[in-house]
Amino acid sequence: MAQILVIEDERDIQEILDFNLRKAGHKVFLASTGRDGLRLARERHPDVVLLDLMLPDLPGTEVCKALKQDPSTRDLQVMMLTAKGEEIDRVIGFELGADDYVVKPFSVRELLLRIQAILRRTSPENPEPTFVFGILRVDRAAHRLWVQDHEIELTALEFKLLTTLRDRRNRVQTREALLNDVWGISADITTRTVDTHVKRLREKLGNAGLYIQTVRGVGYRFAESPGEVQR
Ligand code: CA
Repeated sequence: MAQILVIEDERDIQEILDFNLRKAGHKVFLASTGRDGLRLARERHPDVVLLDLMLPDLPGTEVCKALKQDPSTRDLQVMMLTAKGEEIDRVIGFELGADDYVVKPFSVRELLLRIQAILRRTSPENPEPTFVFGILRVDRAAHRLWVQDHEIELTALEFKLLTTLRDRRNRVQTREALLNDVWGISADITTRTVDTHVKRLREKLGNAGLYIQTVRGVGYRFAESPGEVQR
């Protein structure tokens, strides 16, 4: 199951995609304009963006460029939806950074297969059951964690927050994406909840708390390597 943002202004295509992606078990966000799509991409941090080339406000090419230039959305997988003959060369020439494309009219089945392929390429299918990162040691299966060989007690949520950040350590996670993926979206919690929990998690982790870095104005990021962190 993945989170997929559909940026498409044609109502019937939007509906077909929404219906079929949900049926395949994915979570779907819909946008009808480029600006709305960019906002949702930043807020929700989906796994895959299906991006129409012809949108009412911005060309899909500009949306793609903006996604690939913004550090908070750069790693999203972008699949362009193009009509035959439309700028396909530029799209697949990677000038824009699109990861894949399909030509309209596309078969839903083919699109779903292509999405599967993207997800296989990008998601760690089997996260290691235990990992060591500098002074941090984590046993996922047992839900146990040690810092410099002292066991630290974490709540289930703190554990999930830590492993989510760590699994995506080369990318910034927005507060909204963390709320979505760690908490599951809910109306009565706010992005401040994320800050509160990160603060508590850092306190519990002591020196290893430095691995969780604040990216001002965006969110949080797990250090790429323990050596990167000054102690
Ligand atoms: Ca269109």
